[in-house]
Amino acid sequence: MIKILITEFINQNSLDNLNNKFEVKYNEKLWENIDELNHIIVDYDGLIVRNKTQVNLNLLKKGSNLKFIGRLGVGLDNIDTKYCNLKNIHVQPASGMNADSVAEYVVSSSMSLIKKIPMFHNGTAKGEWPRTTIKSAEIKQKYLGIIGFGTIGKKVAEYALKNGLKVLAYDPYLPVLNDNEINTKFSNLTEIYEQSDIISLHLPLTEETKNLINKLSFSQMKKKPIIINTSRGSIVNEIDLINAYNKNLISGFALDVFETEPIKSELYKKINPEMNCILTPHISGVTTESNIRVSDFIVKKTIEYFN
Ligand code: NAD
Repeated sequence: MIKILITEFINQNSLDNLNNKFEVKYNEKLWENIDELNHIIVDYDGLIVRNKTQVNLNLLKKGSNLKFIGRLGVGLDNIDTKYCNLKNIHVQPASGMNADSVAEYVVSSSMSLIKKIPMFHNGTAKGEWPRTTIKSAEIKQKYLGIIGFGTIGKKVAEYALKNGLKVLAYDPYLPVLNDNEINTKFSNLTEIYEQSDIISLHLPLTEETKNLINKLSFSQMKKKPIIINTSRGSIVNEIDLINAYNKNLISGFALDVFETEPIKSELYKKINPEMNCILTPHISGVTTESNIRVSDFIVKKTIEYFN
């Protein structure tokens, strides 16, 4: 019988469906126990992970019977996809299944940060009444610059347009689309930096995108934009971002992803409650609804693959 190993959380109903077809071992904490994982992986034909399990060369070499890896989410930077290609191991992301959740996060954090909600909250909770000292604004007619215009980038544009934002997009790997058709103006990076009031990142972490947003990029941002990163932590240089905020080059930031997760002390020690910022523990794509969609999709793809 086909054997499937699941090392991170999955929706219970989807798990039940998989259990009806295959022999499944499920331990949502297994990603933490690298020794056990390395020891048992050889017994499995399929592996299902989120982003915590490091499916690196070492694990893959031990998993000599693996034929299929399901990724409960998108972003394949925790999987050695080159080696998988070489060994003909099929890697299946849940593309699009959490795009609505991420798009809602981007629009809601844009609104919160433009309205300085974290600062108003902090002042009010301390017994101050910062009604006139902190200046708030509307997102309507503001420019949102999207870097990476794939599945999530496009969904963010759709949500942003519905909320009255104007959208710019940068993606060097897309064929040129008709700006008018999608109400989005294709721009280069300099235009995005110069014209955006909000900049949101939706690209994969690769050698090319690591540290893409750095000291130099912040120095080119003319409108003191808000930065929103739901893609991968290392794409934005975190120390440069805090410095840019402290130098008033940007007016706020929402970070859902970090270079090291959980967040490293070097970073959180630089954050204080007075700042116009939102920090979340890699949850923008994880909602009740998206968990069901993502889990159902990967279970369906696993069954299809082995059938
Ligand atoms: P996708 O593959 O559909 O789109 C990524 C886009 O980025 C592609 O169109 C690609 O051409 C573009 N791109 C690649 N290199 C680029 C570069 N140097 N500059 C500009 N654009 C570039 O992926 P997606 O489903 O839209 O997801 C995007 C990323 O979001 C994922 O890679 C993942 O890291 C992240 N993500 C995070 C969460 C979360 O919970 N925080 C959830 C889902 C996805």
